[in-house]
Amino acid sequence: MSEAKIIDGNLFSERLRQTVAERVRELRVDHHVTPGLAVVLVGEDPASQVYVRNKRKRAVEVGMNSFEHTLAADTTEHELLTLIAGLNDDPAVHGILVQLPLPTHIDEQKVIAAIRPEKDVDGFHPWNVGMLASGGVGMVPCTPFGCLLLLKDQLGSLTGLKAIVVGRSNIVGKPMAHLLLRESCTVTIAHSRTRDLPAEIGQADIVIAAVGRPEMIKGEWLKPGATVIDVGINRVPAAEPGKTRLVGDVDFASAKAVAGAITPVPGGVGPMTIACLLRNTVVAAARLNRVALAGGEDWA
Ligand code: NDP
Repeated sequence: MSEAKIIDGNLFSERLRQTVAERVRELRVDHHVTPGLAVVLVGEDPASQVYVRNKRKRAVEVGMNSFEHTLAADTTEHELLTLIAGLNDDPAVHGILVQLPLPTHIDEQKVIAAIRPEKDVDGFHPWNVGMLASGGVGMVPCTPFGCLLLLKDQLGSLTGLKAIVVGRSNIVGKPMAHLLLRESCTVTIAHSRTRDLPAEIGQADIVIAAVGRPEMIKGEWLKPGATVIDVGINRVPAAEPGKTRLVGDVDFASAKAVAGAITPVPGGVGPMTIACLLRNTVVAAARLNRVALAGGEDWA
């Protein structure tokens, strides 16, 4: 059997960001609305600082306004909630993203629930979670939505395909399973208590790996020809002493010999997350201003 097609998330996300830029222009020129994304960072976690910097850079590139709020690690929950209340009321802000994790003295769920659901571009607010689960229109979490776009680009219709999502977190696994169900896949959700993971994976046409364990899923477990989307981002020691490298949750070398198509790490799902965040911000700006954008359903 020939080797798997490598799904190029860099290329796909670049195309998506170009489309976002077109929609931003449409909103600005035709409707006098410049989409605005507010990103809130509490504390000095180096990884979070990098994410926030990238989000700002990409938002500005597509012509959006970017509002960055960097707060000290000892900011109180009350202070953060007050900031969010202000952003909720600010007409220039259409998307609000609070970078997680938050310092432990702040109740994350309370903060997420304080964001106006229409501006919750992460899709983590209970209202948006409920809308996704009940088939309504809300904000869809960025990483699973990015995975879905890659899958549909690769496979077209997903109807009737067997999909397994390995991982049941609120930010990836669960929303991913709902999205696949919405596409009429037959969905299995696996987790750390799943009895025979290789056997479950062996039946799936689509495998979504969102576990956080380096190269855990082996090529031998896969159904030949399966489409594999690897969400995992794990830093492991590199061959060169003192250096590290990124790997996914799937053992790429063995998987690419069996899969039909597979996302690499890095360069697969990772770049899709920010592109989908920008897309969500445009959708939020359009909805808040009651504007119907070109591009149909995908932008409604
Ligand atoms: P969590 O730690 O929140 O969830 C991991 C899930 O994997 C849990 O449901 C856990 O099961 C399950 N799990 C753990 N061990 C096993 C096992 N041995 N067999 C089967 N299932 C197992 O992680 P996240 O969902 O937040 O993230 C998952 C990965 O995706 C991480 O590597 C993260 O870095 C990456 N990520 C990448 C993003 C991107 O932009 N590309 C965005 C977000 C995350 P249980 O519930 O039973 O404990």
